[in-house]
Amino acid sequence: MVNNTYNYLLSDLKKLKGVGQKTYNILKKKKINNIFDLLWRLPKSYTDRSKSTKIEDLKIGEEQTVILTPLKYNFPRIRNLPNRIYCKDDTGELDCVFFNSYEGYIKKILPLNKEVTVSGKVGIFKNKYQITNPKYVSEDSTLIKDKYNKYSLTEGISEKVYNKIINQILINLPILEEWHNNKILRKFDNISWNKAIIELHKPDNVGKYNSNFYRRLAYDEILSTFLAHSEIRQNIKKIKKQKKFFDITHQNKILENLDFKLTGDQEKTLNEINNDLQSDQKMFRLLQGDVGSGKTIVALCAAINTVNSGFQVAVMAPTEILARQHFNFAKKIFDKKINLEILSSKSEYKEKKIIKEKLENNQINIIFGTHAIFQKKIIFKKLGLIIIDEQHKFGVNQRKKLSDKGGDNCDVLLMSATPIPRTLTMTIYGDMDLSIIKEKPKARKEVKTYSKLETKIDEILKFIEKEINNNNQIFWVCSLIEESKKLDHTSAVQKFEYLQKKFPNQVALLHGKTEPEEKEIILKDFLNQKTKILVSTTIIEVGIDFPNANVIIIENANKFGLSQLHQLRGRVGRGEKQSTCILLFKSSLTENAKKRLNILKSSTDGFVISEEDMKLRGFGDILGFKQSGIKIFRLADPVHNEDLFKLAEIEIKEMEKNNISLNKYRTLMKLYDQADVINDII
Ligand code: ADP
Ligand code: MG
Repeated sequence: MVNNTYNYLLSDLKKLKGVGQKTYNILKKKKINNIFDLLWRLPKSYTDRSKSTKIEDLKIGEEQTVILTPLKYNFPRIRNLPNRIYCKDDTGELDCVFFNSYEGYIKKILPLNKEVTVSGKVGIFKNKYQITNPKYVSEDSTLIKDKYNKYSLTEGISEKVYNKIINQILINLPILEEWHNNKILRKFDNISWNKAIIELHKPDNVGKYNSNFYRRLAYDEILSTFLAHSEIRQNIKKIKKQKKFFDITHQNKILENLDFKLTGDQEKTLNEINNDLQSDQKMFRLLQGDVGSGKTIVALCAAINTVNSGFQVAVMAPTEILARQHFNFAKKIFDKKINLEILSSKSEYKEKKIIKEKLENNQINIIFGTHAIFQKKIIFKKLGLIIIDEQHKFGVNQRKKLSDKGGDNCDVLLMSATPIPRTLTMTIYGDMDLSIIKEKPKARKEVKTYSKLETKIDEILKFIEKEINNNNQIFWVCSLIEESKKLDHTSAVQKFEYLQKKFPNQVALLHGKTEPEEKEIILKDFLNQKTKILVSTTIIEVGIDFPNANVIIIENANKFGLSQLHQLRGRVGRGEKQSTCILLFKSSLTENAKKRLNILKSSTDGFVISEEDMKLRGFGDILGFKQSGIKIFRLADPVHNEDLFKLAEIEIKEMEKNNISLNKYRTLMKLYDQADVINDII
């Protein structure tokens, strides 16, 4: 039966005593679907009801316990007026007030002239202390002597009920067979999973992040994620594919004709990719590198090698403009014999039909486009490589589907311009092999970064005017206003109207509500320098090259994380000219804000910046990962538990080396919701 003991944890909430339909619905809304989910709603603090306070010593607004004698009931017959019970102790008077409670119930819990213990938040009404809807009432003062956990999400569920539910689970907690080996367990003082959970919910243990029980549970979580990734990676590796044979001289000829030389990191990553192409294992690789680190040429070299080995390549970009930029670059550097095509949503039906036929007949070597190139109707004769640019919104499951898409012989290369800390990369992209470009192309002018108060806008307008007169272009980025979960574009719209008065016919506006087709036109006009200032929210794709734009102004800069500011700044500085980034602030900077800004001003390395950003803001906040739907850990924290991430990485490597079966970890993975990722495996 041992195998099944975890089933209790995965069972429905209705199984619990005290969970009626109402509580059930509230919990469901909070995405608490089973008993296991409930374990991770941790107490935020606790109420100590073991000490009672005399009425004269009560503090208004605090949860306190008082020993009282009820003297008189007042049950008004008027609707909406509460029932009131006058009580006293030897130092003063206090009313217990009940809304929506029956007289019978009140008489039972607060019998007249008998000492009772009452606990709740103390308020004041008409100069008299009162406790409204007391949370605990007991005739026997010794009954209320425990400390009770306060949970943060008990909205609609009383603290008492919530504690009762949790205590019930803790009592019934199954004894799970240990999945860790002794060496790992020793690092956590041999604490078992069960014991750790119980410790986690003890009122005195609130916030003990460095304790063994907390760290063990955090490690469980990290390891289960890594195990799932490892399993996916290994299964993809097991796929035997046709090796790609190609002559490297084609690639080298292209490189010789460029007006730059590859950086060391570009060469290194290209080699890693080429080795994958030539091996009989399917490639599933992430090429990660900061904006402007030169990923495109690396990917295109991989594309040409794939073509030279007789296969077709599909290059997918998030927007048509970006797809077209890649297409044009490829046309410029590749031999005319290579058949390139771009599939646009705007292409005529007839044109699309021809492209489709050509793809089916292997008459197109490389096709560029948006996700449209992966429609079911599109059939490739011999697809050998899928390249996906600027993605950071795919979850593990989506990536897995993608890797299946091209069939066994098709390698997959994803590109991400989002430098993130290593712990995060391992967490999010652990299912892929990694190639990282850290080194930037030399001879690139650094973007000058300044901060300014918004009140000095006249100086900025003068500066812009000068830049426009020099034939330069400007990005003006406004933050979104968040009002009760709704995102608002008014600041961008207002700035657009304001700037248009100053620079008539030279300003364009782009925000999240702009229709995709209109957006493409606006971006094209800006690219062709028809407009000079582009006011936008943060939606402009990072990948598009606007070589003529050399100024970026970011309003409300304190609203953005460092990584995001770095990404925004990366939109300029791609051409020959000196570029400028101006960060606008509404008020003078706090010490912390200054510290953050200095990091940004002193570094151009996205990896360093994101690492610092994560330390300052926490991991959920950086780059909007919270919003992206990528699962965030319940306890583990990539900053705080960096050592545990490293430990898990080492352990996984060892397991992969020694071919250790996942069976031992079955319970862990089932519980931690990783099993669905690799459902067919265990
Ligand atoms: P990203 O990694 O952001 O996709 P790109 O591939 O678009 O960067 O490269 C940005 C610009 O830098 C392009 O104009 C590209 O031609 C140029 N570039 C790429 N590699 C180098 C290099 N080694 N030296 C100089 N310029 C380079
Ligand atoms: Mg790019």
